[in-house]
Parts: sequence; C-alpha cells; structure tokens
Amino acid sequence: MENKAYIALGSNVGDRFGYLTQAIILLESHEMITVVNTSSVYETDPVGYTDQDQFLNMAIQVETNLSPFELLDTCLRIELKLGRKRQIKWGPRTLDLDILLYNQENIETEKLTIPHPRMSERAFVILPLLEMDPSITLPTMREPLKNCLLSIPDREGVRIWKQKNGEDVFALIES
Ligand code: AMP
Repeated sequence: MENKAYIALGSNVGDRFGYLTQAIILLESHEMITVVNTSSVYETDPVGYTDQDQFLNMAIQVETNLSPFELLDTCLRIELKLGRKRQIKWGPRTLDLDILLYNQENIETEKLTIPHPRMSERAFVILPLLEMDPSITLPTMREPLKNCLLSIPDREGVRIWKQKNGEDVFALIES
C-alpha cells in the first residue's frame, strides 16, 4: 500500500476497550487498509469538557491506498457503526477516530485538516504516537514532535492502561 497514515482512537462510554478493538478490526478488514502498528492504550483525564468519564486513547499506524478523504469517510462510517451519537462538542463518545497524519501532507479544507488541529498540544495524542515512532515530525513544524511534550500541561493526566505486547487482542493484528 502506498500511503502511511496515523489515526488516533478514543472512547469514554461503555465498553471503552471493546470500542477501540472493534474499530481496529473494522479498519483492518477494509481491503485498502493495513494496520501496521499499534500503541499501548492510555487512560486520560478529559480535557475541554471535563464533567465526563475518563477516556481510553491510543494511536495506530496504517498503510492505505485510500485518499485522505476516503480514509476520513471510512473512519466516520466506523464511528457511526459503533454507535457514536454527536451531542456535546468534546463530550462523551463511544468512539472518536481522528486522522493525525497522512504521509507528510498538509491539508486544510472545511471537511478535513491534516495534521489534525491541536494534536501537538495534546499529550494523549503525542504520547501514543511517539511510542510508535520517537522521531516523528509534522509537516507544519520544524522541530520533532517530541519537543512539544516539554510545554504540554496535561501530561500527568495520561497514564498507560494496557501496555502493548501484554496479553491483548492486538496480537491478532501484530501477527
Ligand atoms: P469530531 O467531533 O472531533 O470527531 O469531529 C468530526 C469532524 O471533524 C468530521 O466530520 C470531519 O469532517 C472533521 N475533521 C477535520 N479534520 C479531521 C481529521 N484530521 N480527522 C478526523 N476528522 C476531521
């Protein structure tokens, strides 16, 4: 597959880990997407709208022949399939899928912005990404992403919940 993308996953309602794993299985089952790496799962204090339960967050790396817009449509379909209802902005969600990076492309349209806006300010996005590739850079930044961590306030609110390579369903995908 031609293109390399990173996707962030989050859930804070119901069977949070179940939603993350189902989303990965649905992405992997798409014939134009291969999941090539997964981060650990992190538990995260909510930011923005704080009167809600803690999130599980993680990130994955995929290879795909889909365009960025086709990949977005696939992510939105999976969110709907897994029961997402959009109510409060930044509020509780069964599943949130965000495209963080697509090659080193810089896309700014009404429907899609890549790199994902605010990703460099959020420890729950940066930590799983750096776990997969500590040297990752954004097309919009001169310095490596890891330098952003120093100035991020919510880093303490992000804890490892399930270490990668522990006993978990991702063995399915890593084999
Ligand atoms: P959210 O409520 O945060 O899931 O926002 C969903 C909407 O954000 C989608 O309908 C997309 O049109 C838009 N969006 C813009 N850029 C991105 C991106 N990089 N990944 C996912 N959604 C995006």
